[in-house]
Amino acid sequence: MRGRRIVHYRRASALLPLEHVSRFHQARFLISAAAPAQFPPDVGAEVAFVGRSNSGKSSAINAIVQRRALARTSKTPGRTRLLNFFELAPLRRLVDMPGYGYANVPQVERRAWPPLIDALRTRTSLRGLFVIVDSRRGLTPADEGLLAWVLPGHRVHVLLSKADKLNHGEAAAVLRAAAPMLSGRATAQLFSALKGTGVAQAQDTLEAWLACSIIEKGS
Ligand code: GDP
Repeated sequence: MRGRRIVHYRRASALLPLEHVSRFHQARFLISAAAPAQFPPDVGAEVAFVGRSNSGKSSAINAIVQRRALARTSKTPGRTRLLNFFELAPLRRLVDMPGYGYANVPQVERRAWPPLIDALRTRTSLRGLFVIVDSRRGLTPADEGLLAWVLPGHRVHVLLSKADKLNHGEAAAVLRAAAPMLSGRATAQLFSALKGTGVAQAQDTLEAWLACSIIEKGS
């Protein structure tokens, strides 16, 4: 009986689909930065993740990096207002930006997003933003402020999160409605950390951005 159980376990491991093997297996927490001086050196490439509180940002990061509790670090009391840097591979970073409610983006830009955030924006390493938006809410005009925040060379990719809470028709409608708001400046996809929907697509995008050199940046 015991022997049988072991054989069953080994078979299950051998048949583990490739997507279950982390594409970012070297991922590790680097630092919670409270000031630009604490940022990692501005070399290589990094992608920032941003979203209002409860948008599903932490779950999305964990699903994409395939590390169950990586982004939990960012939720540690005292770190929620900081920029949390993770290294996905040598000189390849993910930056978890503070969660917030951006009902009034200009105000957020002026006050709650102080020089810390501006310093991130102007880093040579920054390739772009992943914006996490609850798909039940959809993109709102306030989200457009984020498109204004990024520099022209930066890419923006919107994850319409918690898509498992919508039926097929609703999900398609949310995706369609997002297109005009992004006005060719950004891409969008449906995403569910719970069901795994869109995880591979998000990983592909993140990997492609992190792989691109500075010269390719505006392309
Ligand atoms: P954050 O505050 O933006 O980092 O959001 P969290 O990742 O902590 O998620 C907020 C809430 O949404 C939690 O209760 C999660 O369990 C839930 N959530 C996150 N992702 C999904 C998802 O893909 N599907 C569903 N149904 N719930 C989700």
